[in-house]
Amino acid sequence: MKKTDGQNRAVTAKWRPATRAVRGGTWRSEHGETSEALFLTSGFTYDDAATVAARFAGEDGGMTYSRLQNPTVQMLEERIALIEGAEACRAQATGMAAMTAALLCQLSAGDHVVAAKAAFGSCRWLIDHLCPRFGIETTVIDSRDNAAWDAAIRSNTRVFFFETPANPTMDIVDLAYVCGLARAHGITTVVDNAFCTAALQRPLEFGADVVAYSATKLMDGQGRVLAGAVCGSQQFIDEKLLPFQRNTGPNLAPFNAWVVLKGLETLDLRVKKQSENALKVGRFMESRVPRMLHPGLASHPQHNLAAQQMDACGAIFSFVLDGGRAQAHALLDGLELIDISNNIGDARSLMCHPASSTHHSLGAEAREDMGVGEGMLRVNIGLEDPDDLIEDLDQALTKAGL
Ligand SMILES: *Cc1c(COP(=O)(O)O)cnc(C)c1O
Repeated sequence: MKKTDGQNRAVTAKWRPATRAVRGGTWRSEHGETSEALFLTSGFTYDDAATVAARFAGEDGGMTYSRLQNPTVQMLEERIALIEGAEACRAQATGMAAMTAALLCQLSAGDHVVAAKAAFGSCRWLIDHLCPRFGIETTVIDSRDNAAWDAAIRSNTRVFFFETPANPTMDIVDLAYVCGLARAHGITTVVDNAFCTAALQRPLEFGADVVAYSATKLMDGQGRVLAGAVCGSQQFIDEKLLPFQRNTGPNLAPFNAWVVLKGLETLDLRVKKQSENALKVGRFMESRVPRMLHPGLASHPQHNLAAQQMDACGAIFSFVLDGGRAQAHALLDGLELIDISNNIGDARSLMCHPASSTHHSLGAEAREDMGVGEGMLRVNIGLEDPDDLIEDLDQALTKAGL
């Protein structure tokens, strides 16, 4: 294997983001393949016993076992780190494996976490159910309220955990304020950046410590594989994440890493075009539904904050109908082009009803508290012609009585 310039930080540091997304992290075998090779191997062989000992002692940089290192996975990790502007990155089996690892690798019984109450259902489950089982205290707050972050800090607070924009309420967290507050108190911020990716928002630039991903979403971008990633300082990755990951094994399969590597080559293009389409469709929706939630629209209460920290507002928005679940389901059933699906980040437009899908298991009370009502629908806008999407929504809205 030959490391190309994509593995040379002195060179990649000079590359602009689009170049990093295409060439970052690439290694080449002796065949000189153009596209990254797929190393579907669990283990590695050695020329002699002394080499084995040297590798396990960390004196030889070669690979030993795919739970510890794999060339295809390492290419992806380097590419994501470069796009994110992070010192290091480790790929994970899924987005939830990434969130779990990012939290548990650094928390112990007796620690305290402050988390946003508006969050992806499984992220809330980690905070509400998993952490407390292991003696980790948690507090959930309205993440839009800067003073609430201040007020929730205790002497044992170790981590702030949030999404921005949040799934599916589109709540925006003030990155500069909240990350600055955390820094001042020696608290580590873990930001779930799934709705943006570094193509739209780079939390590390605002003082975040750890950025965690569902790479299933915009990074793959074509609805093929589950994947995740955790980015942070070299010290965080080496001292906290790696010991946890190597011994618990939430690793990404090489095939899935390869798929996401190819996805990243078009990330910037897709995410910017999908944001543009979402804004166009969002403007139409604003004229037809009682409540639109899209940070790119001036009607969003945090529109100005979003404009300060996001390059564009992304492919995803939500809206609320007055007729509750019956009307929301009727709208879904009336769609002819847009698919009913709870995935996001896909090049296809997809729509779901969070209360009866992604946020079902949280229960009505927690949903109410985080602002996920029965009339809410969440939309992922893809790469179709936005006028076709508008026509589809128009006819489905009419069928649902709007
Ligand atoms: C989808 C999602 C996750 C979970 O990712 P998986 O890859 O499905 O495990 C976590 N956070 C957010 C914000 C998501 O949208």
